[in-house]
Amino acid sequence: MNVLRPDLLIFGGGIAGLWTLLRARQAGYTVLLLESSALGGGQSIASQGIIHGGTKYALKGGISKSTHAIADMPDIWRDALAGEGDVDLSAVRVLSAHQQLWSSGGIRSSLAAVFASKLMQGKVSSLAKAQFPPPFNAPDFRGSLYQLQEPVLDTASLLRTMREQALSACYQYDPEKLQVDDAGLQIGRLRLQPRRVLLAAGGGNAGLLERWGMERPQMQQRPLHMVMLKGRLPAMYAHCLGASAVPRLTITSYPLQGGEMIWYLGGQLAEEGVTRTPAQQIVAARDELVKLLPWLDFSSAVCATLQIQRAEVATPGGKRPDDCYLGGEGQIMVTWPTKLAFAPRLADLVLQKLKKEGLKPAGGASPALSLPHPPLAPLPWEQVSTWS
Ligand SMILES: Cc1cc2nc3c(=O)[nH]c(=O)nc-3n(C[C@H](O)[C@H](O)[C@H](O)COP(=O)(O)OP(=O)(O)OC[C@H]3O[C@@H](n4cnc5c(N)ncnc54)[C@H](O)[C@@H]3O)c2cc1C
Repeated sequence: MNVLRPDLLIFGGGIAGLWTLLRARQAGYTVLLLESSALGGGQSIASQGIIHGGTKYALKGGISKSTHAIADMPDIWRDALAGEGDVDLSAVRVLSAHQQLWSSGGIRSSLAAVFASKLMQGKVSSLAKAQFPPPFNAPDFRGSLYQLQEPVLDTASLLRTMREQALSACYQYDPEKLQVDDAGLQIGRLRLQPRRVLLAAGGGNAGLLERWGMERPQMQQRPLHMVMLKGRLPAMYAHCLGASAVPRLTITSYPLQGGEMIWYLGGQLAEEGVTRTPAQQIVAARDELVKLLPWLDFSSAVCATLQIQRAEVATPGGKRPDDCYLGGEGQIMVTWPTKLAFAPRLADLVLQKLKKEGLKPAGGASPALSLPHPPLAPLPWEQVSTWS
């Protein structure tokens, strides 16, 4: 039987797997990626595409370790988007170069303190009324408005661009056929003995860890109930803060052909809406929109929801991890990036680890497998059959 020995075998083609594949290949490693369904098909395609720079984290609990870890991410992504980074994302559509943050009152003084901090300087600016963009330039809007230097990306164009660059090394396989033994692994008649394995399958990591008989690291899942609104809506990329510093609503927009727009709603609405039925969540979302943006007319817009899990390394109390995670044992590495924005940092950590362990590229081209290449996952609103 023909045995393939890539330097690195990655499981999972979300942002973590794809970014690491491209970086490891550039470093000269032979890399293969195995995907169970479609590239980006877990959380990555469904994410809001916000390249966080720490503002949200800073607001939640002052300047913490996680704020420092994420503060560099927008610049790293901007370089990649300009075609000047480690990964060429110059073909990716940037939906908005920045986001707005508005407060419906109550916490303005604490906002001012956070935004005055050294870490946030140059990352947030307070807008004067004359600078308010639509739809905040309406006379009825009475909050304060800030601009965050955090871009919002079209996740479909991001994953399409990465898929085009990575596809020759990506294969679709049936996880049911995966057998793991001491010497390597087998999928049907295919025998692989990779020098290193990276489990980057998001929520699928739990099952893969079981295959390898690994009890650690443990995974946690935190649910979200997102809302999608479709209609003739203005473009909007904004967080709304209510009485606390946790975004009450985070709105990103996605233009559709024909002039309609999708509003994709996250934030507290999505976190607290996990116990609601889709119908109840739609009512809650409409109530929030009417309260927070009373001068806009949502009556002809239609809605749908998406229930989805965020997969992360387990933390005490099930809180959001501070940073991206890379762990594992022996030849098996395990990762959860925690945020789409952390993908470049995660790939750096993988490469540093390979270097530290003295793993030199074996050289040669990545082997070709007799398996199909995976398709690109559809966007959440492309999968909705009934809008209400
Ligand atoms: C609704 C939502 C909104 C978000 N918004 C943002 C945001 O705006 N900004 C941000 O920075 N982060 C955001 N996040 C977080 C971010 O999306 C995730 O941290 C990130 O996408 C995780 O990437 P990943 O590659 O680890 O996993 P995933 O994207 O889940 O990819 C895992 C891949 O592995 C595949 N897979 C599963 N099981 C197996 C298996 N057994 N074998 C092989 N392959 C397998 C899946 O099909 C999938 O393609 C959001 C998350 C959610 C859910």
